[in-house]
Amino acid sequence: MEKSKIYLSSPHMGGTEEKYVKEAFDTNWIAPLGPNVNGFEASIESYLGASKNVAALSSGTAAIHLSLIILNVKRGDEVLCQSMTFSASANPILYQGATPVFIDSEMDTWNMCPVQLEKGIKNRMDAGVKPKAIIIVHLYGMPCNISELKRVADRYSIPIVEDSAEALGSTYKGAKCGTFGDFSILSFNGNKIITTSGGGAIVCKNVDLKNKAVFLATQARDQAPHYQHSEIGYNYRMSNITAGIGRGQMEVLDKHVGLRRDMNVFYQDLFATIKGVMVFKEPSSDYFSNHWLSCILIDEAIAGFNREDVRLALEEENIEARPLWKPMHLQPIFKNYAYFGNGVSDSLFRDGLCLPSGSNLTEEDRLRISAAIMNIIKKQTL
Ligand SMILES: *Cc1c(COP(=O)(O)O)cnc(C)c1O
Repeated sequence: MEKSKIYLSSPHMGGTEEKYVKEAFDTNWIAPLGPNVNGFEASIESYLGASKNVAALSSGTAAIHLSLIILNVKRGDEVLCQSMTFSASANPILYQGATPVFIDSEMDTWNMCPVQLEKGIKNRMDAGVKPKAIIIVHLYGMPCNISELKRVADRYSIPIVEDSAEALGSTYKGAKCGTFGDFSILSFNGNKIITTSGGGAIVCKNVDLKNKAVFLATQARDQAPHYQHSEIGYNYRMSNITAGIGRGQMEVLDKHVGLRRDMNVFYQDLFATIKGVMVFKEPSSDYFSNHWLSCILIDEAIAGFNREDVRLALEEENIEARPLWKPMHLQPIFKNYAYFGNGVSDSLFRDGLCLPSGSNLTEEDRLRISAAIMNIIKKQTL
């Protein structure tokens, strides 16, 4: 019999989600507004705990797009963006007709390197262009080096869009990821730390900015009895049905963060005696990762095997593993844009692998994973 598939990250319901969804049916709030949308937003606001105003949207990508629109990013503008990320961080720059400039990662956090960022800004300023925004990312839940990145951004007065799609529940110096940007964004896609089946949120500094985001997300209707529009609108609001799932998921968020962190400890232990394999973890006590995904870096010269050996051996056992994000400056669609870096994200992509990390993995799943890994080690050392 074929073994069931072990996924990198799959949805994990807490139990009360259906109750909120049923309430929406019972009260006929089957619309992109209603008590679940308000309740979900309120629970995120209280979780983030930094007097922020949150608007629930149809996706994290929509949240990045609205952030750039409100920051007035237009055709011909330039936006700096972490190169090593999911393409959804960068695509909205192109939706606006603006030009991305990609920045390499640092080895400690795998996120944007403050030195390369400043190099990029100086280069663009010398060319007479002031970048309109900086998109920073917390990959795999690991907070980026926020203090240094903010210092650079503030020095040149460039606003930050914080892509916290993977980092709900992570903290940096005690403050929650999702509270650091001029705008921050969250994602509740099916594979994220909590899910609404699909959805996202924009985190704003005040209620006026939230109202602006909601206005744009609901087709930009002017105050009038008829439909009247003086700006381009979008259909980006979250539905009251999916928001019900989100309310239930917020009740188990911290528990699920704990379980993902346990998976990271499991991998730390599994690879502790295996030379040439490093399990990615926090560089210092300033950082607290939700460990959305646990990842390894393999030094082939020492380990005697590479990430493809591990990925394919796991695939053989019906266990999903995936190379790290392929940097944007290496992507066919983005390859002609400027890039500032010195090879860090290239080497992470070459040597790195994401491993099954879900909060719902069982003891049996763990046994299958460790058996498959041990098998590779045995083969390589024969
Ligand atoms: C998932 C993700 C997004 C996009 O979120 P969606 O809700 O899927 O649109 C953006 N950035 C990063 C880093 C992500 O992982």
